[in-house]
Amino acid sequence: MTASIIDGSALSALLREQVSDRVNALQTRGIKAGLAVILVGDNQASQVYVRNKVKACEQTGIHSVLEKHDATLSEADLLARVHALNHDNSIHGILVQLPLPAHIDAQKVIEAIAPEKDVDGFHVASAGALMTGLPGFWPCTPHGCMKMLEHIGYSLRGKHAVVIGRSNIVGKPMAMMLLQQNATVTVCHSATVDLKAHTLQADVIVAAVGKRNVLTADMVKPGAVVIDVGMNRDDEGKLCGDVDFAGVSQVASYITPVPGGVGPMTITMLLVNTLESAERHAISTA
Ligand code: NAP
Repeated sequence: MTASIIDGSALSALLREQVSDRVNALQTRGIKAGLAVILVGDNQASQVYVRNKVKACEQTGIHSVLEKHDATLSEADLLARVHALNHDNSIHGILVQLPLPAHIDAQKVIEAIAPEKDVDGFHVASAGALMTGLPGFWPCTPHGCMKMLEHIGYSLRGKHAVVIGRSNIVGKPMAMMLLQQNATVTVCHSATVDLKAHTLQADVIVAAVGKRNVLTADMVKPGAVVIDVGMNRDDEGKLCGDVDFAGVSQVASYITPVPGGVGPMTITMLLVNTLESAERHAISTA
């Protein structure tokens, strides 16, 4: 079997067109969707991520504000900036790029973001809303994975999904979303004994570990759907995922590539969340 590729770049382009249309429609009602991105310090990877997010906003007509601060910014000053943005009516989404310098308590900063502007979906209120099935913002990466499954028309009802990784931003929310769609979910992590025994039973595998070749062809049931969230570098310095793409694509029915898979979808779901926040604001102030 040679797996079909789920092209995250193509799906993103499609979804971003829809975002753009909705942004324009909202603007005719006098509201311009706005995202504030706060970057503290000079982490190279963070600078690239932030640049891509701002660029994506520009392309879809979302107003974006990029605040760059020195690594020496105090926690109190950062919290003050977040509070100011919470009260800024031109801003519907606030994103504080992680990681933050060690002297700043990242969780405290995330909890300072008003939940209605928490477009990253990391606030405890957003996590609670996802857990209980209430409206709220879903973290962008797992949300993007769900959109990819939806795009191929895959019904999760009764399927066995295995999530590898249990972080608060990917693995755990991913498991919740799959559960909400009636999959039977297994979550694996670094203390899992015999990962292969679990993945071999899976109809859907989401790998979110951050290590190359965590999932190889011998660990995948023929016909399974494989979503690769990982972002790693190979020996030549090229971007690669957690999945041995060459091998697994011979066994799986669908697979996401790296690059061009989950990565672009993450940014797209940030745009979607920001737009939805602006749309909710429009309804609440109508
Ligand atoms: P993380 O916080 O480091 O979590 C990694 C998870 O993998 C942990 O739960 C860890 O288990 C588990 N793990 C480690 N080694 C394992 C092993 N050998 N077998 C099974 N599980 C193992 O990472 P993250 O933030 O979730 O990100 C995961 C990957 O996704 C990274 O490569 C990251 O760069 C990438 N990512 C990509 C996007 C995107 O847009 N494409 C977005 C976010 C993240 P323990 O909990 O037991 O330590």
